[in-house]
Amino acid sequence: MSDVRVRFAPSPTGFFHIGSARTALFNWLYARHAGGTFVLRIEDTDRARNTDESLQVLLDGMRWLGLDWDEGPDAGGDYGPYFQSQRQSIYDTYLKRLHDAGRTYEKDGAIWFKLEGERYTAYDKFLEAEVEKVKTKPVVIDDLIRGRVERAEERDFVLVRKDGSPAFHFVNVVDDIAMRITHVIRGEDHLSNTSKHVELFKAFGVEPPKFAHIPLILKEAGSGKMSKRDKGALIEEYESRGFLAAAVRNYISLLGWNPKDEREKLDIGEIIELFDFPGINKGNSRFDEKKLAALNAEYLRELNIESFTFLARPLLNEAGVIGEGLDEDYLQAVLTLCQPKARSLDTLSELCGYFFRDAYAMDEKTGAKIAKKTDPEALLAEVLPILDTVEPFKADAIKSALELHAAAEDQPVFAYFPALRYAISGQGGGPDLLPMLEVMGRERVTARIRKFIA
Ligand code: GLU
Repeated sequence: MSDVRVRFAPSPTGFFHIGSARTALFNWLYARHAGGTFVLRIEDTDRARNTDESLQVLLDGMRWLGLDWDEGPDAGGDYGPYFQSQRQSIYDTYLKRLHDAGRTYEKDGAIWFKLEGERYTAYDKFLEAEVEKVKTKPVVIDDLIRGRVERAEERDFVLVRKDGSPAFHFVNVVDDIAMRITHVIRGEDHLSNTSKHVELFKAFGVEPPKFAHIPLILKEAGSGKMSKRDKGALIEEYESRGFLAAAVRNYISLLGWNPKDEREKLDIGEIIELFDFPGINKGNSRFDEKKLAALNAEYLRELNIESFTFLARPLLNEAGVIGEGLDEDYLQAVLTLCQPKARSLDTLSELCGYFFRDAYAMDEKTGAKIAKKTDPEALLAEVLPILDTVEPFKADAIKSALELHAAAEDQPVFAYFPALRYAISGQGGGPDLLPMLEVMGRERVTARIRKFIA
């Protein structure tokens, strides 16, 4: 094990936002890349928002994405407890250290951190009042992603609120010290807090960790940051939308990082090997649902049929496509045909529903297109006797029999395919037709054609 220690420090809100998931993922990737330790620390000092359900959403999301933590809730560790709400005695000790060093004072019932420097009063536009300010030396942050950032804190800030609860900046820094965090990898929205944090590290006489602030994820259209209302923003929705965790994780890794070649589909072992700070982009990234869907489709196609069936079954069940008395062999044969065509699991019932249901919708556009070029009823009447009698009812034998008939009619065999497919599925596209006929079986195929002609 290396001495790299990183942490993901979420404040549970009831949602697991893709931006948080990306922060968690980057920390996890760096820990695994460096052979270090990945700590999960729950920043639950805001009591009103921190319910058990909020925590559960977060832990479930992390587990779904496969982001296992070495220390934290359930995992334990030498630097616990890992919930800030249980660390009050640690904060008291650290507060006393600042107090003894003369770096705290009380004002309006709160305890403040006293910056070092020359004090003066000035008009503060933000507070719309005269406030005491401090001339401090700028803090220099050599951010691993943003480069050199300089910022001077001008105002003292609160360590403990009037109600006795410790403030974010204070507990965040105390925990990073107490948990021996070496790299703070977090969202760019915290860059403006970092000078406060560095002032605190200095006051405790501790060398600050290395900082890496990751640029924003912008929403698909427009210029704003992705918000929880944007489609694709919540990790907890991906599973029920039919996405594979490995695909989502691969996609999120590309939001702000790239392997410096054109590749997009990378297995997790490769990402871990290649992941490092120089690969993280300085610019914002943009959420791209199409790219995510394409990656998901690639991962879906790679699953073995057992895994594919395992994932597809509950979704098909829920859509009412399959139910009791299901023929398992038929399900597997259908899914073997549909898997190469599947783009996501949640559209699978549209893609293959007609295999299971006799009442399938007829796509009118396709119907009109076929009727414009041919007389589908006449074509089907020609092939029906063949399909009634061909032996065995297998793709090869069906193909030979249809070819023989087509040749006699001076037609290419393909001339029959669109009408055939449309009659038995209501669709213009789908899996290869001949294997599809075989899987559906003679009875189903001929009954559907008869019904269509009638
Ligand atoms: N609780 C903070 C957040 O969720 C953590 C910030 C940090 O990583 O330092 O934004």
